[in-house]
Amino acid sequence: MRVATKGEIWERIVGCAAVVEAIAATETAFYVEGHFKFSAGGCCDTYLDIGAVLDNPARRQVIAKELLGMIVEYLKLDQFYGVIGIESWGNELAAEMVQQATAQGLSLKVITAKKSNRDFCFDESDAEMIRGQNWIIVDDVLTTGRSIILVGEKVALLGGKPRCAAVVAMRSESLQTLLELGLLTTFTLVHAPAIVHGDDCLDCVSGRAHDPIPGHG
Ligand SMILES: [Zn+2]
Repeated sequence: MRVATKGEIWERIVGCAAVVEAIAATETAFYVEGHFKFSAGGCCDTYLDIGAVLDNPARRQVIAKELLGMIVEYLKLDQFYGVIGIESWGNELAAEMVQQATAQGLSLKVITAKKSNRDFCFDESDAEMIRGQNWIIVDDVLTTGRSIILVGEKVALLGGKPRCAAVVAMRSESLQTLLELGLLTTFTLVHAPAIVHGDDCLDCVSGRAHDPIPGHG
């Protein structure tokens, strides 16, 4: 494993200046090269611990403000009923976004898509709220797009309309992922490129062990 230097971060993570600055200001190792396995399946050559960036309330406020601003640039917020935050950092961002929107006089609901056994679920009262309404889905990082697709499908099944997704960092450069996400307009603040492998991961084939996820023991 190798931790990227601050200089490399400026080169490799590009996009919204305020967010790149917030990422670079993070004290702990959050951008590491290695051979990492996702819980959802597949491997990746870099690990971006966006939780380490968002763990700081001031940085979280800045990033939520940028997410909100990015959506407002293209869509009218009053056409949405609320924001669905994906556990475990998307929901923190969603709560912060709705708080900032409320301060601007906009009324938005906020609900959490809870992690459950490699899938997502909603509390019963939240599930009832979803029907017939337009929703924004928020997550921290998009790598394979799997979480956003799963949550979008759940929302549609409950009779709601998943109109757009907003993420802090897009990691995948795979056209396939973007095509699969075609059902949703996806907004991204920064690009943090990573090479994502499926079952054909060469490191796995050659027997290279997986590196521990930083900050997870
Ligand atoms: Zn692998």
